[in-house]
Amino acid sequence: MRIAGFEPLTLIDYPNHLATIVFTPGCALRCPYCHNPELITAVPGSRSEFFTVNHEDEFFDFLKTRLGLLEGVVITGGEPTLHLDLLDFIHRVKDLGFLVKLDTNGIFPDKVKTILATGLVDYWAMDIKHSPEKYPLASGVKIPIERFRQSVKLLMNSGVPYEFRTTVVPSIHESEDFLEIGKWIAGAQNYYLQAFRPIKIADTTLIDRIGEKSLDLKAIRKSMLPYINSIDIRE
Ligand code: SF4
Repeated sequence: MRIAGFEPLTLIDYPNHLATIVFTPGCALRCPYCHNPELITAVPGSRSEFFTVNHEDEFFDFLKTRLGLLEGVVITGGEPTLHLDLLDFIHRVKDLGFLVKLDTNGIFPDKVKTILATGLVDYWAMDIKHSPEKYPLASGVKIPIERFRQSVKLLMNSGVPYEFRTTVVPSIHESEDFLEIGKWIAGAQNYYLQAFRPIKIADTTLIDRIGEKSLDLKAIRKSMLPYINSIDIRE
């Protein structure tokens, strides 16, 4: 599988586990606040360095040196489920005895279903970009919301540990939107409200649009508790 790069150690991306994190190139969404703009525009066959240099062998050489030291591998993007050989990659990681966490935006429910059926992913994280009605405001593209609804349903019915999370962006989100998100994913296992960080983003005009706007994450959390028991804030 094409790997754009990896970070040897992350203490925050896999809850309760020491892990390494792998970045895959390419994504069909265009979230204005995306922190990996160089990854999302990379497409197979393009001249992007992410498709001319593959770091997979380098990654597995590294991973073998971390046996017994690290517990897991986080696969993130871009959007990992874009890659047809994602399952082969996951198999290789599992064969070495590591846990796997998979990050997805849920755009390909069929892929989510196929991967869930293998039982190879130990922990899933899916982005909930916005309320169903306003999804394109945060995803940057018009894609039928049914796709994301299906992925949500699949994860909630899977019996596998998972989290949903939303990056909260003033000017894209309003407090009331989170009531709609709460109703949508009511009963979810874990939900995280992630504070937006104004660093290296895809749409640099967003900073001006945010201006002085802010959102109170603690108040949003409280408003969602009738729908979801476990909600945490990632600052
Ligand atoms: S889904 Fe993730 S990788 Fe894709 S554009 Fe949005 S933030 Fe970036």
